[in-house]
Amino acid sequence: MRNLVVASMLFSSSALAQMQVGVAKADISPQESVPLAGYGGKTRMSQEIVHPIWLKAMAIRDELGQTSVIVTADLVGMSDKMVDIIAENAFKKYRLPRERLILNTSHNHSCPVTEDVLWIYYEFSDQELAAKDRYTQMVYQRYDEVIAAALKNLKPAEISFEQGLAGIAVNRRRSRGPETRAFGGQVDQDVPVLAVKSEGKLRAILFGYSCHTTALGGLSISGDYAGFAQIELEKQYPGSLAMFVQNCGGDANPLPRIRGNEAEAVKLTSMYGHILAEAVKQVIAAPMKAISGPVKAVMGETELFLRPGLSLAELQQKLPGLSGMAKTEIEHQINQYKTLGAPPDRVNYPIQVWRFGSGFTFIALTGETVVDYSLKFKGLYGWNDTWVFGYNNDLLSYVPSLRVLKEGGYEGDAGMAEYGHRAPYTETVEKQISDKVEELVKKSRE
Ligand SMILES: [Zn+2]
Repeated sequence: MRNLVVASMLFSSSALAQMQVGVAKADISPQESVPLAGYGGKTRMSQEIVHPIWLKAMAIRDELGQTSVIVTADLVGMSDKMVDIIAENAFKKYRLPRERLILNTSHNHSCPVTEDVLWIYYEFSDQELAAKDRYTQMVYQRYDEVIAAALKNLKPAEISFEQGLAGIAVNRRRSRGPETRAFGGQVDQDVPVLAVKSEGKLRAILFGYSCHTTALGGLSISGDYAGFAQIELEKQYPGSLAMFVQNCGGDANPLPRIRGNEAEAVKLTSMYGHILAEAVKQVIAAPMKAISGPVKAVMGETELFLRPGLSLAELQQKLPGLSGMAKTEIEHQINQYKTLGAPPDRVNYPIQVWRFGSGFTFIALTGETVVDYSLKFKGLYGWNDTWVFGYNNDLLSYVPSLRVLKEGGYEGDAGMAEYGHRAPYTETVEKQISDKVEELVKKSRE
C-alpha cells in the first residue's frame, strides 16, 4: 500500500514537471456614466470611454502543483472590504490561499469609483451612489470570472525575466512649488518584464513601472499611459495578454502633463504608453533569464504607527466653516472618538513575498509606496532578480520612507487625512516595513 502511494506521488510530480501558466482578461468598462475615481473635490461623472479598462489574471502552477495568481486591474486601488470579498471568494471557490493571491492595481485615475475606496474624496448624490454600487458589483463578478478563466487555461509554459528602462517617471515631490525644489528627486525607471511562452509562442507579458497613472485627469475612462502600453503590446504580439503592475510610484508622476485640453492630454498619454511599450519590446527582443519553480509564497503583517492626532475638542473647534473633503476628514475623526473611543493609533500592513526556485523574487507591498522602497529592496535582495510591487491590497495611504517622512509634504504628511488617518506615521515606518520584508524574504528562502 505504502509503495502504491509513493508511486502515485512520483507519477503526479513527474506529470507536473513543468510550470504551467493560465491567463485571462475581463472587461470592466462601465456600462453607464459613473463617478470617476482618483481626484478629490467635485464629483466627476464619466462622459466617454477612450479605450476599455480591464482586469487581467495570471495563474502559475508550479512543479509541485501549487497554484498562485496575480490579478492586475486598471483601477485606482482597492479597500480592505474589496480585498476581503475577492480573496474569500477565491479561497472558497478555487481553494486559492491568501498568500498565493496578489491583487495589484495600476492606480489608474481614469477609472470609476468602487466600493469605499478613497471614500473621503467624494460627495455622491443618491443616483451617483447607485451607479457606483452597480459598478462595484460588476467588478466583483469580473474578479471571480477572470480568476476562474485563468485557472481553466493552465498550459505548460516557459517563464523568463529581464528588465529595461523608460524615462517617463519624474519625482513629483519637486513639482509642487519653490519650497519643494530641495526634495530628493529619486525615481525608479526600471521596467521589469516577465514573459510567458507556450510552445514557443508569447502568451503573456507581465510588466511594471513605478509611476502614478495620472497623465490624464479629464472625464474619460481609460487605463492612462499603462492602458495605452498594454494595448500596444497586445497588438504587437497577437494572442498575448499584457498585464501592467504598478510598482513603487507613490511619489512619481508622468511629467509633463496636460490639463484643460483633453485631446492633447490623450495624445501625450498615448506617447507615454508607447515609450513604456517600446521598453518592454526591447526587453523581449533580447535574451531573457529563465525562471523556474517551485514558488514559495509567504505573507505577513506588520503595524505602522501614527503620531498623536487632534483631541476631540480640537477637532470640534476646527469643524465650523469647513466644507467638502476637509469637513469629511474632521467629521470622520470625530466619529471615531464616538464609535471607537479614539481614532486608531496604528494600521495593519500586509506584505507578500513569492520566491521562485531559481531565486527570482516578488515583494508585494501595500498602499502607495514611495520609490525608496523599490530601490532599497532591490539593493538588498538583488537588482537583477527582485521585483517590488507597490499598490497591492488596501490603498491604505501614502507609505513614506523615513526620508520622505522627514521632508514632509503631501506623501509624508498632508495626504494622511484624505485616507482617514489621524496623523502622519511615526519615524518607525520604514523600519517596520523593512524588518517584516527581511523576515518574509528569509522565510521564503528556507
Ligand atoms: Zn496616488
